[in-house]
This record gives sequence, C-alpha cells and structure tokens, in this order.
Amino acid sequence: MSDVRNVIIIGSGPAGYTAALYTARASLKPLVFEGAVTAGGALMNTTEVENFPGFQDGIMGPELMDNMRAQAERFGAELIPDDIVSVDLTGEIKTVTDTAGTVHKAKAVIVATGSQHRKLGLPNEDVLSGRGVSWCATCDGFFFKDQDIAVIGGGDTAMEEATFLSRFAKSVTIVHRRDSLRASKAMQERAFADPKIKFVWDSEVAEIQGDQKLAGLKLRNLKTGELSDLAVTGLFIAIGHDPRTELFKGQLDLDAEGYLKVEAPSTRTNVTGVFAAGDVVDHTYRQAITAAGTGCSSALDAERFLAALA
Ligand code: FAD
Repeated sequence: MSDVRNVIIIGSGPAGYTAALYTARASLKPLVFEGAVTAGGALMNTTEVENFPGFQDGIMGPELMDNMRAQAERFGAELIPDDIVSVDLTGEIKTVTDTAGTVHKAKAVIVATGSQHRKLGLPNEDVLSGRGVSWCATCDGFFFKDQDIAVIGGGDTAMEEATFLSRFAKSVTIVHRRDSLRASKAMQERAFADPKIKFVWDSEVAEIQGDQKLAGLKLRNLKTGELSDLAVTGLFIAIGHDPRTELFKGQLDLDAEGYLKVEAPSTRTNVTGVFAAGDVVDHTYRQAITAAGTGCSSALDAERFLAALA
C-alpha cells in the first residue's frame, strides 16, 4: 500500500493551504491538488486584503496566497496545480483522479474546493474586480467611505450587504430585477428604514463603466427597456454563490443549497475519513480567516482519524 497517501487535499485557497500546512507539520506528507487555473483560490482575484490578522498594513491577495503556499511547501506539502475530475470516497481507501486520468489514493481526503460567487456576466466585471467591483461588503466596504455605491440583488445577502455598507457609504442604491424583494421581512424592513438606502426596481445592470476603476453603471429598466445612468464608484454584486460540490454529489451529503454538510463543530462529512473546510461548507461567514480556521480544524480532524487507524 506504499502508493496510498495519508491525506489528499483538494483545493488551494486559505482552507486548503492551511490544511496542507498543518498536515505537513504533522509529518503526514499531504498531496494537494491546487486546481488548474485558479491555484490560490478566490483571493488571487483581489487587490488589498486588510482584514487578515498579522498584516498591519494589509497585503495584496495574491501575495498572501503565495505566502501560504510557500509556508505549506516548506514543511513538505506536495502541491500539484491540477484539477481533480472525479472521486471515489466511499471505501476505506479513497481515490481521486486528475485531468491526465492518473488515480491517486489516500486514507483521508480533505475537501476545500470553495465556492464561486455568481457574476452578472458583463464585460469589465472581472477587470474591475478589486477596482470598484466587489462581491463582499465585509471584505471591501471600508474602502468605500463616503462614496455612492450600488448593490445588485434582492435576497437576504443583498439587504445585509446594503445595510452594512450604509454605515460607510454616502448612499447605497439597491438595483433589483423585480418590483419586490426575496429577502426576509425583517431584512427588508431594515433596508426600507435606512435613510441612506434607495431602490431601483425592475432593473438590471446593462453596462459596467470604467477603465482602471469603476466609473459608473448603465441600468436597463426591464419593463420599459429604458436606459439610465447611475453614478457610483462602488458596485457590490450580491446575487448568490455556488459551492463547488459537483464532484461529490451522490457521495457526500449536501444541504439544500448544495454546500457540503459537516458534523459541526468538527469538519467530518457523512463519509468516514473525508473532511471538508472553508467556503464549500460555509454560507454564513465566507472570509479568508474563517476558511483558514476550518482548514486547520480539518487537518487536526484528519490527523486524529489517521492516528486512530494506526
Ligand atoms: P477558495 O479560496 O475559493 O479556494 C478554493 C480552491 O479550490 C481554489 O484554489 C480552486 O482552484 C480549488 N478547486 C476547486 N475545485 C477543484 C478541483 N476539482 N480540483 C482541484 N482544485 C479545485 N475574504 C477576506 O477575509 N478578506 C478579503 O479582503 C476578501 N476579499 C475577497 C475578494 C474577492 C474578489 C473574493 C471573491 C473573495 C474575497 N474574500 C475575502 C473571501 C475569501 O476569498 C474566501 O472566503 C476564501 O478564499 C475562501 O477560502 P476557501 O479556501 O474555502 O476557497
């Protein structure tokens, strides 16, 4: 069984790299699949991160992730920049298959595949990410002090982002495709009562304007087709997230929204020897530090599981 690893980690965001660091330091020689195009995870697409503890002056997202990667590697984590395309987690020995069709075996697997925020699908959206366009008010709200901001969406997340942002912003305009909100009554009432929050109903973003940074939005009224300009320097897109759990359907228990279920506060999934951490589990906090935190927990859970096998 020499080709059977102790632990394979799928994913290389803060959760995956932290799990790699801890399992490497526990001499478990983890094998980490980082993903083919998105090694380093969600923070590779952002600029300054000001809320990861330990960096008094902030740190650029890609630099933070490079540091995490190097720290895991320093202790012997083996990192492969490839995707896992299929898994069999049911037996005592788990198998994962990479894009070349090579099958890798392990006694334990940590899933840290993250989640993908939904995009509007407009040109400029990715280019201006971190330059006025954001998907996370907790992460970026502070950068928009006294500015005019738009929030797109009509659910609980959009209302929460808008009410949070109104603490910093000069104004917050919620743009929603319909003429009523999906958000819970309490969240709606809080947003309606906030003097800084305005609503543009029955409308979508037709164009995200700007070159080096966001300069404004063009909105389209979906009932009349009429176009209008919205002068904002911040755009928060709050139309949902999709956890990356496609690979695990039918093997691991998912909740109604497709997130992996764990026996909280542990990171154990319903399958013995399989652990999950970070945003693939978490629809509540979705922060780098919370992903790193559960990544640590998953490594300790895997370590204890492996120790009990020995
Ligand atoms: P991710 O970072 O999403 O990483 C998941 C990893 O899994 C990726 O590397 C991906 O390639 C890999 N993967 C997926 N499927 C496979 C597969 N089949 N095979 C192999 N690998 C796979 N949080 C903060 O705390 N502060 C901030 O300032 C901040 N800013 C943000 C800015 C932006 C633009 C975004 C999008 C998010 C921001 N966040 C911020 C949130 C933070 O990035 C996430 O909460 C965090 O990255 C989640 O970590 P994770 O490890 O769970 O997943």
